[in-house]
Amino acid sequence: MQYLSTRGNISPIPFTEAVMMGLAEDGGLLLPRTIPRIGCDTLQSWQQMSYPELAFEVMSRFIDDIPTSDLREIINRSYSTFSHGDITPLVHQGPYHILELFHGPTLAFKDVALQFLGNLFEYLLQKNESVLNIIGATSGDTGSAAIYGVRGKERINIFILHPKGRVSKVQEKQMTTVVDDNVFNIAIEGSFDDGQAIVKKIFTDIDFKNKYNLGAINSINWARVLAQVVYYVYSCIHVTTHEKDSSVDFAIPTGNFGDIFAGYIAKKMLPPGTIRQLVLATNSNDILSRFVNDGDYSMAEVKITSSPSMDIQAASNFERYLYYLMDSDAAKTKSLMEDFAKEGKIDLSNYQDQIKRDFAAAAVSEAEVSETISAFYSEYGYILDPHTAVGIKAAEQVKAVGIPMVCLATAHPAKFGDVVEAAIGKQPAVPENLKGITDRESRCKVMEADKTSIQDFLAENAR
Ligand SMILES: *Cc1c(COP(=O)(O)O)cnc(C)c1O
Repeated sequence: MQYLSTRGNISPIPFTEAVMMGLAEDGGLLLPRTIPRIGCDTLQSWQQMSYPELAFEVMSRFIDDIPTSDLREIINRSYSTFSHGDITPLVHQGPYHILELFHGPTLAFKDVALQFLGNLFEYLLQKNESVLNIIGATSGDTGSAAIYGVRGKERINIFILHPKGRVSKVQEKQMTTVVDDNVFNIAIEGSFDDGQAIVKKIFTDIDFKNKYNLGAINSINWARVLAQVVYYVYSCIHVTTHEKDSSVDFAIPTGNFGDIFAGYIAKKMLPPGTIRQLVLATNSNDILSRFVNDGDYSMAEVKITSSPSMDIQAASNFERYLYYLMDSDAAKTKSLMEDFAKEGKIDLSNYQDQIKRDFAAAAVSEAEVSETISAFYSEYGYILDPHTAVGIKAAEQVKAVGIPMVCLATAHPAKFGDVVEAAIGKQPAVPENLKGITDRESRCKVMEADKTSIQDFLAENAR
């Protein structure tokens, strides 16, 4: 499989090069040249597979430059760190199928992709005898998941920028208590979007990028999207009735558009109609729900909410969808993204029909998040984290009779204990690997949200 840029100005590259490139060198995002199709019979034949076996089947359709046995081994190792045998178990609560994506080492769905990406990087670097300096911005969960993906790995240093004081205490501790020599935490005086903008700028400095072998771990990396496609397929296999024409809906708490974009790829891969509807759920940072409902893609100020991993305005994966919406026209995509960079908005109301075929959307207020956590607990005795609650609330609003609704549970409630306590009057049980985390030794450098000083810090500490 060859990979292309959404902006059309790189020559096609194979999967492993796309992984190492991260952001495409022309400023666009990388996408597979075609999306492989899975037939009904093939899907049927996957029913008895374990999660890692299924992951191999799905991913290998996008990867033709890693030997089969190596790819299998990387996948198996990546999911051996999960605490649940099914990796991403489905549990049934009330009218919903809840896809628990939080059984990895940092208790958020990002582990599903980043355990894989860390091992993949290690494998490719050993092969090429090279080194990598990963730089990424996080709104909370990506940082710790990325750090856990590469901690202690020999040929990799990792630099993670988080917005100081704007991630939960547990999220902060999960990052800063990893004191391996190859891990550098930077708390910036600014928002997640400031951090992301700095990272993007550093990446467009091609000389710097090449000199220090910079790599990305943000959701702009195609390998992350790919790893997330797997659990959509997994859910379809386990939730549909397997009758002809049976469909599934998904509700996805959305920030950077990575997770839901993986759902969009799964929808294109699977037999038509298998995934009927992808419900895009945002918190009060509602740029993406406004985009779906009104075609209005315009930036607003970032609001701080109880679901901080979704406190995002400029969604870094949006460009991938825009490319398909423009019928794979890279020139058009490029010019729209340039308009967006200049004006902070683009008007896509002419594409409303197609957008609404691809997604439904709802924005969920802070009061609704709290009410949803509380109501769900009293009705079903199941504790939702605030991100998952955003998805459940949106699902409630659009759920169709007779069609199974899979709600993605993106974080363990114990990561957001205070929000949960405010809603239900008690703290969720703390899983083993979080116990005592606030007392552990931690390390972090506080810096201005300034590209030059961060770039200098990187140069000093790079491999
Ligand atoms: C990152 C994250 C999201 C949003 O996922 P995107 O891929 O950025 O849309 C939702 N919930 C949690 C808990 C997250 O960590």
